[in-house]
Amino acid sequence: MQDFSFVIIITLAIAIGFYLGRRSLRKKQSSEFNPQASKSYFQGLNFLLNEQPDKAVDAFVDSLDVNKNTLETHLALGKLMRKQGQVDRAIRIHQNLLARPLLDNTQQHHIHLELGRDFMAAGLLDRAEMLLKEVISESAELRSTAQRFLIEIYQDEGEWQQAIVIGEALLGSRFFKSTDNKRLSMIKMIAHFHCELAEEDRLKGDHLGYKKKLEQALTIDKSSLRASLLLSRLYNQAGTYKSALKVLNKAIIDNPDFITELLPDLLNTYEGVYQDKGFERFLHEIDNKLADKMQVQGLLFAVDQQLARADQYSQSFAVASDMLVKYLHYHPSLIGLNKLINLRLPSLNGEVANEVRNLHDVLKDLLEKRLNYRCGHCGFSGRQLHWRCPGCKKWDQMSSLKNGEFD
Ligand SMILES: [Zn+2]
Repeated sequence: MQDFSFVIIITLAIAIGFYLGRRSLRKKQSSEFNPQASKSYFQGLNFLLNEQPDKAVDAFVDSLDVNKNTLETHLALGKLMRKQGQVDRAIRIHQNLLARPLLDNTQQHHIHLELGRDFMAAGLLDRAEMLLKEVISESAELRSTAQRFLIEIYQDEGEWQQAIVIGEALLGSRFFKSTDNKRLSMIKMIAHFHCELAEEDRLKGDHLGYKKKLEQALTIDKSSLRASLLLSRLYNQAGTYKSALKVLNKAIIDNPDFITELLPDLLNTYEGVYQDKGFERFLHEIDNKLADKMQVQGLLFAVDQQLARADQYSQSFAVASDMLVKYLHYHPSLIGLNKLINLRLPSLNGEVANEVRNLHDVLKDLLEKRLNYRCGHCGFSGRQLHWRCPGCKKWDQMSSLKNGEFD
């Protein structure tokens, strides 16, 4: 509320400035004076002093004529209302502006854009879409900005094909500089839209469409983790393991933070390509090339696979256990410790075993409460990797928590 009042006061200061400027100009030009506007203005001031900013805003809007000089102030006030979550009031301000007969085309386009954003904020997506499309077709100046907002609507509605069309139009325009990070984000978004369409094909049982759309996603964003994962699975299913291996190896280089997510598919692929020798080759590969970047879950995956292929007395058990101890020495983590206790507990006896078992239970409880993924943009956390954050709706913002963040 404190912040809100502060911003309101700043905005109103601007409004007062405009108002006084306009008034003195008018006085010079003629003796005409609008008593109604003046009354509203002083009412507004009164509301403001009595800490009733909502009413103050309404009174000031009434007191301020709409003309070339004050339009910006009205628009700024409308924007502010929307930001504060007062969407109804923002809509009223913008509709009030549109009712004025003397606006030129450019001014009307600006107001349509703002009103479209109000409707978006109010969840009235059809009306927002209509207004934004109008701005896109009529205003070269605001076209790209309106397209940016329209693409948000299409994403919310799951209209992926339309989102692709708008996204490509934006890439083709001069809206993004070639080195702009936002351009890269748009490319990645379009790849996700193709993946979404691919998923629709998969659900319909259209395997050819599924494959084509994933390939298209990977053509657009050559480092797409999502398209790489799904495509490699498709290649594995079809027995074209070498194609899968190529895709996965590139994906690991391009997305080193997601090795954990890629390892199970990589193992399947190695076993497909090298059959009995597959697991050995896989271990060799991740041990040599990926050791620096490997996250603890990646190691645990390898340990689990090692154990699944062995019993407690075999060579593999010892190898897995040693691998874990070595890793924990350099990268201590609770999750790694939990696995180590799991491995060692069966060989303990008597009172010591009971004590360790009790401590182990506490550790397991702690780990069960832990979340694995967090959005770098809004902080949303969860157990599952979402391509699009459910919190802030941004793409590719979630990543697995690093070792240190677990502890
Ligand atoms: Zn988020």
